[in-house]
Amino acid sequence: MNKTLQIEIDPFLCASQGRMFDGQLGYQDMQRLQADVDPAMPDINIHMEFARKGKFIVLTGRIHGYLVLQCAACLGAIDFPIDIDLKLAVVNDEALLSLIPSGFEPHLFDGDKLLLSSIVEDELVLALPDIARHEVCSIELPRVSTSKDFVEEVDVKENPFKVLEGFKNN
Ligand SMILES: [Zn+2]
Repeated sequence: MNKTLQIEIDPFLCASQGRMFDGQLGYQDMQRLQADVDPAMPDINIHMEFARKGKFIVLTGRIHGYLVLQCAACLGAIDFPIDIDLKLAVVNDEALLSLIPSGFEPHLFDGDKLLLSSIVEDELVLALPDIARHEVCSIELPRVSTSKDFVEEVDVKENPFKVLEGFKNN
């Protein structure tokens, strides 16, 4: 297996050299996905390019492949296609977040090193559906237990944190 993406790189150096990275990541490489994804998933293909844009480091590229998820209704496997265009501004200073070039999403990191596989993992976690389900499923979920109870529970859990965040910022 190609391990080139499980390395910590210096984003400043990579940007000034215009470095590119190609590789694959599999189930074993992405611990944060393992609770939601079947170990039978094939490796995900990744292409990354570092560059400078003004004073910013930008990372463009593509994450391509599919994840194998479990259907919440019938518990069968779902092939979930992944095709993500990366367009990130890589910053290690929160003060710069509001200044990043338009069209780029911020990727905040600590210190001066960046773990490439972690960026891919972040993007895949974001791409996961809240509830995985076959578009055409052999089992119909009972209407009562589908959304309402679940959504209310999530709201109750989220609210206290949002209030706390508000206090911190003030
Ligand atoms: Zn299903």
